[in-house]
Amino acid sequence: MENVFIVHYGEIGLKGKNRSFFEKQLVQNMRGSLQDTGYTEIRRIYGRILVTLRPEADVEAIRERLGKVMGIAHFELACATEQNMDAIKAAALDWIQGKTFQTLKVDTKRANKNFPLTSPEINAEVGAHLLKNTGARADMHNPELLCTIEIVENAAYIYTEKNQGAGGLPVGVSGKVLVMLSGGIDSPVAAWRMMKRGVKAIYVHFYSYPYTDKSSLEKVRELVRVLATWNYDGRVYLVPFADIQKEIVTKTPAPFRVLLYRRMMVRIAQRIAATVKAEALVTGESLGQVASQTLGNIRAIEDVATMPILRPLIGDDKAEIMDRAQRIGTFEISTLPHQDCCSLFVPDHPATNASIEAVRAAEANLEVDALVEKALEGVEREVVEA
Ligand code: ATP
Ligand code: MG
Repeated sequence: MENVFIVHYGEIGLKGKNRSFFEKQLVQNMRGSLQDTGYTEIRRIYGRILVTLRPEADVEAIRERLGKVMGIAHFELACATEQNMDAIKAAALDWIQGKTFQTLKVDTKRANKNFPLTSPEINAEVGAHLLKNTGARADMHNPELLCTIEIVENAAYIYTEKNQGAGGLPVGVSGKVLVMLSGGIDSPVAAWRMMKRGVKAIYVHFYSYPYTDKSSLEKVRELVRVLATWNYDGRVYLVPFADIQKEIVTKTPAPFRVLLYRRMMVRIAQRIAATVKAEALVTGESLGQVASQTLGNIRAIEDVATMPILRPLIGDDKAEIMDRAQRIGTFEISTLPHQDCCSLFVPDHPATNASIEAVRAAEANLEVDALVEKALEGVEREVVEA
């Protein structure tokens, strides 16, 4: 008998030709995530992934890390045993020792259809054995202890506790995006939502030093460190934005400033995206949350886009986003004080519904291409370790 984790993934995305691609990526991600936790092997078995453990493996660390691997629906710590009824009965009784319960149920999933007994027969036989030896009662509807037996390939696995996985698709199956990360609450959540759909996220941050201090840079590094535990990639591009802001402030009408900042950010981000082969930009915008996030303004920003700008939070309420940030682990970092480049030199009454023509006209005084090139020259690339 040995202990294992048995990992189940969702059905979505598994169908047809993609199945093997999906599974291989998931296994690769699990290997990366479980480094140094003491597993011996991660391998695919019929419709599941098996993680075998050394006796000294850090079970709690593995449990925590598996909870952060996108694409896993649920996973269980199980004991693996020989595929015969005597071994299964003995192992099941052993596995439930020390647990407190008055009622129990046995539930068998038989992936190996060659096993001589059917699932109901196994349930009945193992159930009778457990009841006799524990004094518990059977309860088919609401048991205090559910003992699951999976008969797969040439072994049997027994478990009693289910862990919820993150769901979604394995990071890497959907390509790459460049996330515009501000240091606020929303953009890290937007990154997480995209990772959950299988994309690898790389980050870009614009900062206004020396007009602001460097606190936003430190926050962004910390945010990327947390996000990298879900994503296995901590690449972040830091873009000096002060010179561009100075130009905008001296040469354009005040009400359009935030929009013009954003248009410049998008232009620069797109260039970085091209160098890292990212196929879309991602922002944390949520419709109507602030003055710059009206449909009209989104359109005025999108006007300069040459690649898709994805906004996974567009329909979310602030409360939902904050709740999610808490569960991802970014909320505490995001709410630390920092000096935000976008609130710099911003008028009391920014344009909330600018026409594209007006915004383009306001930009006419800027040497857009030269400003973009200059900012790109100052970009620094960092890799933050999870
Ligand atoms: P967040 O909580 O992510 O800061 P927000 O609600 O404060 O978002 P805005 O400040 O309007 O919204 O920014 C909208 C989006 O623009 C952000 O979610 C982010 O994707 C991007 N963005 C804003 N400022 C920066 C920045 N300094 N660097 C990179 N991206 C930024
Ligand atoms: Mg912000």
